[in-house]
Amino acid sequence: MNERDTENSRLLSSTQNLEVEEDGEEEGDDNEKVSKCCIYPLISIIICLVIIAICMGAVIVFWRMDSAPQAICKTDHNKTRDVCKTAECITLSSTLLNWQNTNIDPCEDFYEYSCGRYQEHTLNDGIRANEKDTIVMKLIRQFVLKNQSTTSNSENALMLLYEKCSLRYRMENRHQETEVIQREVFENIRKIGSWPIADKNWNSSHFNLNNMLSNMASIHMLPFGLFETRVIELYPMNTTAKQLVIRPTKLKFSIPQEELVRAIRDLLSVNGITSIMKKVKEDVAESFALDKEIGNIHIDPQPKPATLSELQKAVPDIDFERIIKSYLNPKTGNWSSLRTKIFSARFELFFGKNNNLSSIIARTKPRILANYLFLKYIEYAYFFFFDNTKVFSDDDFCTEVVTTSLPRASLRVFVRNHFKKENMAVASEIVEVVKTAYVEIINNSTWLHNSTRESAIEKVVKMKKVIGYTEEYERTGALDEMFETLQLSRSDSFFVLMTKVNRFKIEQLMDFVSSDSLLNPIEPLVMANAFYFPTKNLLNVLVPFLDKPLFDFKYPRYVAMAGVGRVLAHEIGHAFDINGRQTDEIGRTRDWWTREDTEEYDRRSECFAEQFTNFKDPSFKGKQNGTEVLAEIIADALGMEASWIAFKKINLTEEQGLIQFEDHDFGKLYFQVAALDFCAPSRIEERYSDQLSHPTNKFRINGAFSNSRAFADTYKCPVGSKMNPVQRCDMF
Ligand SMILES: [Zn+2]
Repeated sequence: MNERDTENSRLLSSTQNLEVEEDGEEEGDDNEKVSKCCIYPLISIIICLVIIAICMGAVIVFWRMDSAPQAICKTDHNKTRDVCKTAECITLSSTLLNWQNTNIDPCEDFYEYSCGRYQEHTLNDGIRANEKDTIVMKLIRQFVLKNQSTTSNSENALMLLYEKCSLRYRMENRHQETEVIQREVFENIRKIGSWPIADKNWNSSHFNLNNMLSNMASIHMLPFGLFETRVIELYPMNTTAKQLVIRPTKLKFSIPQEELVRAIRDLLSVNGITSIMKKVKEDVAESFALDKEIGNIHIDPQPKPATLSELQKAVPDIDFERIIKSYLNPKTGNWSSLRTKIFSARFELFFGKNNNLSSIIARTKPRILANYLFLKYIEYAYFFFFDNTKVFSDDDFCTEVVTTSLPRASLRVFVRNHFKKENMAVASEIVEVVKTAYVEIINNSTWLHNSTRESAIEKVVKMKKVIGYTEEYERTGALDEMFETLQLSRSDSFFVLMTKVNRFKIEQLMDFVSSDSLLNPIEPLVMANAFYFPTKNLLNVLVPFLDKPLFDFKYPRYVAMAGVGRVLAHEIGHAFDINGRQTDEIGRTRDWWTREDTEEYDRRSECFAEQFTNFKDPSFKGKQNGTEVLAEIIADALGMEASWIAFKKINLTEEQGLIQFEDHDFGKLYFQVAALDFCAPSRIEERYSDQLSHPTNKFRINGAFSNSRAFADTYKCPVGSKMNPVQRCDMF
């Protein structure tokens, strides 16, 4: 269809349906009218102009009367526009049609209007992104269950791990498998050193603290009880982007003392070791007492930084370098780079005057120290040899195990078999457009002082992004090369496989810390979600989130902007929520706000918090406290504004309509598509927690959209209606 025809049909269509919503059945009639309009151009134009004049007059009259939206004269100028007929668009049209409840006035309750019939059309117990998660898990499960022969290392690893996991948790194998694992756990215990509980002839000359710690590290242990090593991306105290931090362990023994005694009894008995249970109980009790003693030392949440050599001086008994070197892969590990990224802090446990790790080691009997470390390992391994039929009885558990254990291999399966890679490039463009919209919002702020404004803009401009996955995985075979160091064998048990996989992951993690890569190898990847990391100033969008039905590169631009665009704008908005605003363009904790700007920010935040606290949401039975979810409310508000600005920049004359929504104003469709992400079952049932991490879904539409003047204008909501309140909250 050419430009002129579109224009004519727009003019003509304004004669139709001044009040009612049209349905698609009228399309045939409409086309006929278009051709008449072209046959008699002069008459048509005159008629059209008269009609426009009437319409405009009517609009002014109705606008003055603050009339209801259905009384507005609609221009319907897109009547015969091209429609998107891809499978994804048809699904989207069907979703919009099925979920909406047009008996509801959109100006009174847009949530009901857009999502009123959601529950009639889904078995899903959450929002549609949750359903996507379930589908992705099923696809990965389907893949591993097919068990097709392949030369891909990562695929083979995935399939083998799944197979052995299923065998492990099959009822008939349970007992026998448990015994196998108990023997394997004992082999690892032997690799760590000599265990007092299992060795009648044990004496303190058998004890070497650093041998034990580095042997535990070689297996894959990060927490040792005495301390832990943890990878942190931009620790607030230092400036190195990725760090391996040595710090006190937050987690104490999580298994009850008696339970651990029972686990040890079984472990010893299967491995043919006789023991006096009274003595075992005493040993375990001593370890628990030591755990408590260490746990009682206060962990400062914001300690001053310390270098590795300062730490080494404070705790001379522990050879930290040697332990960390044990994590490295002999081939790929880069010690000289990793060495510069090891840090600690002046924690009481390490640097305290009287009671510190050094003094604890000095005064604790070697037997107790040795048992304590072994118990830390047994606590980890216990998960593999305890039997709990209830928790692990279904196959979804093993899908969960493989996707969390091998996130990149799982992602590769999904991308290769189900994903359109073009989606990533389009999403990446959307991020740039949204970032430009943020710069515009900040520039147009009526109250930000120049210094704050400049820092805010710098934060947007310098924000990093990972859309899907990073470049190093793009080359064919790249991931499989990384998997060459993971040598799994068909004869391995599930426990041995997991030990190898965990060791592999630690090696990969160390390589990640040593390198410039932005994709953390242990973070989950197969989830329909996107994240903003304030301490990295990084936007991370996961692949399943960029897939149908949430996104498709062939979606009309306004649809993509309303859906994925709005969500990404929300994530970017977290850079300026109550937490995000405390970090700067490289993720450092730094106050870049003037005092007046902070005061104004707080005042405006208060408005948002109160709005949610006072919002009546009958679909939720808990107490609504706006302060608890303020960061999300602010991100929603900013995200709405930025994505709308980006939407307004789209050349709508070139956009395709949606089937059954041919006549709909693109602005209206924009909001209706945006609402789909929040359609959800109500939370009034007992089984749902009262605790909210985000505002209720109803508020995320009715509350957030009612702050948008663009919404009220688009739906022509009368002033004072629920969706066009007299008082609004606004951030910038
Ligand atoms: Zn959020």
